Amino acid sequence: MKKVYFKAVDSYLKTQDINEATKVLLNRLVEDESITLEKYIPLKVHFGEKGNKTYIESKNFEGILEYFKEREIESAYMETNVLYRGERTTSKNHIKLAGEHGFTQLPIVIADGDHGENYEEVEINKKNFKKCKIGAEIAKQKQVMVISHFKGHALAGFGGAIKQLGMGCASRGGKLAQHANSIPKISYFKCKGCGSCAKNCPEKAIVMGSKAKINKDKCVGCAACMTTCNFGAVSNSWLASLSKSFNERLAEYAYAASKDKNNIYITFAFNITRNCDCDGHSMKPVAKDIGVFAATDPVAIDQACLDVLDKVNGRRVFRRGKYTLDYAEKIGLGSRKYELVEI
Ligand code: SF4
Ligand code: SF4
Repeated sequence: MKKVYFKAVDSYLKTQDINEATKVLLNRLVEDESITLEKYIPLKVHFGEKGNKTYIESKNFEGILEYFKEREIESAYMETNVLYRGERTTSKNHIKLAGEHGFTQLPIVIADGDHGENYEEVEINKKNFKKCKIGAEIAKQKQVMVISHFKGHALAGFGGAIKQLGMGCASRGGKLAQHANSIPKISYFKCKGCGSCAKNCPEKAIVMGSKAKINKDKCVGCAACMTTCNFGAVSNSWLASLSKSFNERLAEYAYAASKDKNNIYITFAFNITRNCDCDGHSMKPVAKDIGVFAATDPVAIDQACLDVLDKVNGRRVFRRGKYTLDYAEKIGLGSRKYELVEI
């Protein structure tokens, strides 16, 4: 049975305790499970959307960085571009925002390129996807430290590692494929015919007349056109996301993002909000802070977070992510059975 290591810290304000906890957990996990550490281990993080106040700040990663320094492990902050139009839609703006949010200790790598065009197709042959579009810089790694913020998400429910893998490591096109049908739509009425989307389409899939039109046979669903249009004319259908298939797609992408990797998962269960860090608003936490978790199994660590959260908060209200866990276990991403090792 997989082990999930946990150290309680009862407040996000206790930065020193969080850093000590992270270092102790890492030591124990690596030693107990005889993990071979690579010379380069990027940190998959989330920089927080502009206006979000509850993302996990980089001052809480000092314990990890010290651990790496002692072992001469090189690292970088790694992220992918988001699907929606915001401050993290292109790598240039994304890196700028990361710096403004204090992520300055390591180089920043946007794994799927300037507009999401840099991805690798990872073959998985599952029910919803045969192949998944994973940010190329993540796909090529042997080992990633996946740092998650345990919290809610409008569609996925409460979770951490699986969402950080599935949505967080997907290129923009991969995000689009998870959310909806993977071909964007161009509004005839909003399109001004400027041609910018056609110029930036890596597949030359946009045909220009007086308005732009997508050739569905050529489009690979990379979603670059959604960011290059300044008139809001390119969109996707979010309706297709509102079903269990979204949870399945997320789990399948998580499977692809972690396939053949010797990953380490660290989850911070603080500032537990109902919505995710892509929400550019100030949100109030809906549960008590609980501490830091570490494991090598993304399903086990998410399950452990949910269980401890229920225990600490005394009620079972955080169930919405359950179907993702069921399905993730079914496809072999990990195990819902685990042993909690409290340190
Ligand atoms: S039309 Fe398709 S391939 Fe071209 S940029 Fe848009 S999503 Fe990418
Ligand atoms: S960038 Fe937008 S407005 Fe310009 S042609 Fe493409 S869809 Fe139309």
